[in-house]
Amino acid sequence: MTDNARLLAQVRPADWLDPDPRSLYDLVVLGGGTAGLVCAAGAAGLGAHVALVERSSLGGDCLNTGCVPSKALIRAAKAVRDARVSADLGVTTTSRVEFSAVMRSVRERRADLAHHDSASRLTSLGIHVFFGAASFTGPRTILVNGRMLRFRRAVVATGARPSVPPIPGLMKVRYLTSENLFEITDQPRVLLVVGGGPIGCEMAQAFALLGTAVTIVEAGPRILQGEDVEAADLVARQLATNGVRVLIDTPLRQVSESGGQITATFDGGSISADTILVATGRSAHLEGLNLEQALVRHGPNGVAVDDHLRTSNRRVYAAGDVCSSLKFTHAADAMARVVIQNALFHGRGRVSSLVIPWCTYTSPELAHVGIPPTEAVRRGAVPITIRFADVDRSVIDGESDGFLRVHHDRGRIVAATIVGVHAGELIGYFASAMRRGGRLGDLAHDVFPYPTLADAVRKAGDAYRRTRLTPVVSSLLRRYFALVRKM
Ligand SMILES: Cc1cc2nc3c(=O)[nH]c(=O)nc-3n(C[C@H](O)[C@H](O)[C@H](O)COP(=O)(O)OP(=O)(O)OC[C@H]3O[C@@H](n4cnc5c(N)ncnc54)[C@H](O)[C@@H]3O)c2cc1C
Repeated sequence: MTDNARLLAQVRPADWLDPDPRSLYDLVVLGGGTAGLVCAAGAAGLGAHVALVERSSLGGDCLNTGCVPSKALIRAAKAVRDARVSADLGVTTTSRVEFSAVMRSVRERRADLAHHDSASRLTSLGIHVFFGAASFTGPRTILVNGRMLRFRRAVVATGARPSVPPIPGLMKVRYLTSENLFEITDQPRVLLVVGGGPIGCEMAQAFALLGTAVTIVEAGPRILQGEDVEAADLVARQLATNGVRVLIDTPLRQVSESGGQITATFDGGSISADTILVATGRSAHLEGLNLEQALVRHGPNGVAVDDHLRTSNRRVYAAGDVCSSLKFTHAADAMARVVIQNALFHGRGRVSSLVIPWCTYTSPELAHVGIPPTEAVRRGAVPITIRFADVDRSVIDGESDGFLRVHHDRGRIVAATIVGVHAGELIGYFASAMRRGGRLGDLAHDVFPYPTLADAVRKAGDAYRRTRLTPVVSSLLRRYFALVRKM
């Protein structure tokens, strides 16, 4: 059995028979991605009668076309990078990339993880799973495969899909997006990545390390816009070191294809490539939902929700990419938990009380939590920066490029950015600290094993406490020690 067949057997079984619908469900979930799965499993675990409708494959973007395959590809690219840098440690290895085997391992990892999201797991939890496109027929009814599902509450969790910009000619060429990227078997020789956001940068670097000649074209003034500028510049430098050419301020004017060669034109030049990957953001997936029938308002950013994730129909909620600008799996998961509480138990859980970090898994990783860096500066928050060059473990590992920067307002953490290896792991400390009140000085009391990167977290706490030593206190302390030395 191929890995894709193994995947589909779990998340979209070919011989699936929809169950006979109940006369009324406590919760009907539209979409079987992270948000939908967490809502459905959580509600069923509490005893609710739940139906889940998925039009394509359970697991949604994360399992099928997003986090899982992209991180598996990045893992293969890291093996190449490790082989290259090992010479600095006195170990010489050679690496040879067999691209079709790399992609096979990507698909294998995906199939290995599919059991978490499988149809059989959901039915074992008592959830009625329907495979088909759901659409509302009224404020309390949903149609799927010609059958009517009546609900007390529903949650729209239909996610997002790649948004493709209206570049003249683009629709006429064969282009890749995250939806078909992980199915390729032949290595692109020359890859043009349109968009320097997280997905564009992650994939550009991975393909470059695997041996493809890669160019990113970004319409804006820098890659990873919205992130700390110094941190994004560090990632840009590393991309260049890995052979990725980055063209900023370069909106594409025209794309055409001739003899299997794609040509993209911009002001003052053009690029040729055999493959083009469009990574210019993602927009809410609303097609066919008939939201008007359910009196659910929506706009350019997807389903409109209040802070409790309730839509304009008080019986209908939304969670995940379909209603949020924070399009991440862990955000979808956290929102789903808010929905369970609010939709089924009249709870008052608020999205605004969640602290949601994020990470771009380039090398180095770039992670952030809290208000945007520009907002932190505008509000006059004070930065404290710890360079990984000053953290023993980073130096030992030869991976000291990068830093941790915390912005605080009179000791309360308002934002943290980390750029460096394992930034995605470290940012969790700050997310956790911020949720518990976020006093920067408290971090100085935390004890971490030596030598670890986490030592940088304590150093940030120490650095803050040193700033609390006013000249008056310093001079008092000097006098105290002068006195005790005489005793
Ligand atoms: C390349 C890539 C890499 C990513 N990497 C990361 C990462 O490293 N970390 C991270 O946190 N996030 C990452 N993401 C984002 C992450 O995948 C999404 O944020 C997450 O999947 C959102 O979950 P969701 O449940 O809101 O939507 P989705 O996962 O999109 O699920 C929605 C589901 O609804 C179904 N659906 C749509 N319309 C209907 C309908 N009418 N009826 C029934 N079903 C319907 C869809 O088929 C889909 O299965 C990545 C995304 C991409 C594309």
